[in-house]
Amino acid sequence: MSTHHEGVRAAARPVHVWRVRGWPLWEMPHRLATSVLAVEATALGLVVVVATRTPFPDGPQILHTVLLAGLGVVHTETAIGVERIRRRVTAGGNHANLSSVWTFAGALVLPPACAVAVAVVVHLHVWARTGRPRVPLYRGVYSTATIVLACLAASAVVTLVGRGPAALPADGVPGIVLALLAYTTVNNGLVAGAVAMSAPQPDLVRVLGHWDDNLLETATLSLGALTAVALIVNPWLVLLALPPLLVLHRAVLVRHLEEAASIDGKTGLLNAAAWHAQAEKVLRRGGRGQGPGAVLVLDLDHFKNVNDTHGHLVGDRVLAAVAGALRAEVRDRDLVGRFGGEEFVVMLAGGDGGSAEAEAVAERIRRRVADLRVEMPTPDGPLTVCGLTVSIGGALSPDEGADLRTLLQIADTALYAGKRAGRNIVRMGVPVSARPPVAPLRHSSELPPGPASIDDSA
Ligand code: GH3
Ligand code: MG
Ligand code: MG
Repeated sequence: MSTHHEGVRAAARPVHVWRVRGWPLWEMPHRLATSVLAVEATALGLVVVVATRTPFPDGPQILHTVLLAGLGVVHTETAIGVERIRRRVTAGGNHANLSSVWTFAGALVLPPACAVAVAVVVHLHVWARTGRPRVPLYRGVYSTATIVLACLAASAVVTLVGRGPAALPADGVPGIVLALLAYTTVNNGLVAGAVAMSAPQPDLVRVLGHWDDNLLETATLSLGALTAVALIVNPWLVLLALPPLLVLHRAVLVRHLEEAASIDGKTGLLNAAAWHAQAEKVLRRGGRGQGPGAVLVLDLDHFKNVNDTHGHLVGDRVLAAVAGALRAEVRDRDLVGRFGGEEFVVMLAGGDGGSAEAEAVAERIRRRVADLRVEMPTPDGPLTVCGLTVSIGGALSPDEGADLRTLLQIADTALYAGKRAGRNIVRMGVPVSARPPVAPLRHSSELPPGPASIDDSA
């Protein structure tokens, strides 16, 4: 499984394999390129050793190898439609690779050289049919090498535990469990290492993969173990692994569709509806004793000027850069959303510092936006947009309101006050009694009222 390979991404463009100097591999940091080559060389070296030391496979072993590799190819071909939709909604991303069913089954019951053959055929086929040319060859080779090493580790465990493949159905449970652990540790360890080295700021989820991805990998390997048992009982039973695998693939698509439906395409932040739903959840948790939270409502100052001066496309790039700045200033568990236009909203979850802490975070965000320099190429040459400012209003939970609607109203009123006071400012919870009357709130996606309605002369 390799749904979290994004960190080792390179720009997709045509590459001539025979022009070694032009390989995208050399564009990676030196340390990462060396590690990638070392992993590939180790895999190749071990394969040569294993192939020369084990006897030539017999007839049934060759038949099983062809069966597993063939089913792997059929599986990839059958899932291509689902995969295409999944890739569209996840804006790129990687193949949801469930081929470990075939490679892990091979590692459990085939001689190591045959298991490696299954892994190489299935993975290079996946790369050729769903990765190319977006995913450069070196990445296809690297993920194949990690799978080959994972297969060799699983195969070694089965041999070491002393229950040869033939003992699998009756006696092989400890061997299968240990082999599963070896397979997933080697594969994920090597992928996580590459991601950690290539990501500018690796975080735990990015390196270790999402919980759902790891669960999916466990499901895939479990099905692989059942496939191995089926292969020994009666090779044709292996065909029964295909339908559940295709259903599993569709389940991945559904999850990715759900994720895509909650993301704002322009900024990658949560959209208004998703932010609202998740913020409600955070507040409920806060009510169960996870400490106070705070809501910040942000509105870029005079953003219309950016569009009027440089055009909407540049405006969009600036919005994305501001979103990145926001994300960088808060913790992973804080919720950052785009409410629409140039308006953002943040839910700071359960801190201990109360209003002072929330205000400090807002102040950090304000300064960061003020320091932001958004550089981008344009048809007229490189352009740098700077001198942006943002006004921020905040409200603290539960002091100023226990429900989201009230908190948003208070933060929004504070934002208004900040705009009137000259912009580029943070204002926390204007007390209810001091607030001017506000219009009743509309649907969450329309919150807060846009700056078009902010009147400087007020
Ligand atoms: P204020 O300081 O009062 O908030 O001034 P402002 O110019 O930011 O406020 P106003 O509401 O007058 O304008 C908001 C602008 O945001 C208008 C619109 O062109 C721009 N905008 C809204 N959504 C988008 C978007 O998705 N992309 C781009 N490029 N601009 C957007
Ligand atoms: Mg504005
Ligand atoms: Mg606005």
